[in-house]
Amino acid sequence: MSLLELRDVAGGYGPVRVLHDIDLSVEEGQVAVVLGANGAGKTTTLRAISGLLDVVSGDIRFAGTSLVGRPPEAIARLGIAHVPQGRGTFADLTVEDNLRIGAINRRDRDVERDLRHWLEVFPRLGERRDQEAGSMSGGEQQMLALARAMMARPKLLLLDEPSLGLAPLVTRELFDRLAELNREEGLTILVVEQNANLALEIGHWGYVLETGRIAVQGPAAELHDDDAVRKAYLGF
Ligand code: ATP
Repeated sequence: MSLLELRDVAGGYGPVRVLHDIDLSVEEGQVAVVLGANGAGKTTTLRAISGLLDVVSGDIRFAGTSLVGRPPEAIARLGIAHVPQGRGTFADLTVEDNLRIGAINRRDRDVERDLRHWLEVFPRLGERRDQEAGSMSGGEQQMLALARAMMARPKLLLLDEPSLGLAPLVTRELFDRLAELNREEGLTILVVEQNANLALEIGHWGYVLETGRIAVQGPAAELHDDDAVRKAYLGF
């Protein structure tokens, strides 16, 4: 079943139309990957889902509910967590305080338990619990952004170029972590990535965006192994 469905979505910035007729779905429990060159509209697509961009036409449905016209906070409360490009953590707050902010919309009693859980799952965050986020390495900050998103107990995680600025080994570790979250916690993920090779390895379904349109889509493994697709769009 599709947890998220975009149908004929068009939108952009003021008069500048960036997205055209985007049809995209993310199946519950799967990892969907959106690839494409700089400026293809990947970030804009995530912003449309999160309510940060006005959708001019078409519909976006999450678990059957239309997201169009809803403010970002309402969309977050429905269970969508968005880790933006550049991570969006608070540099001068501690690791722990950043994690607590992730749970700001929760009213249940399990926040402390979840905090302990994520500090165990990401031991380097546990070791740096009282340290300012800005003092950590890029990889650690990306792990913090991920853990903070998980503190909201999302049903869908949106990630915008998580590998940006990270060394190859750190990127590999991050993608291993994402694959684990998907496999072990059943988390549904939509990830936008420049690193097509790695993203397609953990993904189930892939989309390639080109100038605001879906140019190619298919099972991630097939896109990964398709020479013509790789040559034309993926550059590896
Ligand atoms: P990147 O990998 O560089 O982030 P992207 O695929 O995520 O690329 P978008 O950031 O979605 O691409 O940008 C798509 C298009 O929208 C680009 O042509 C960009 O110039 C334009 N654009 C992005 N942000 C704005 C804005 N705030 N105002 C006007 N145009 C914008």
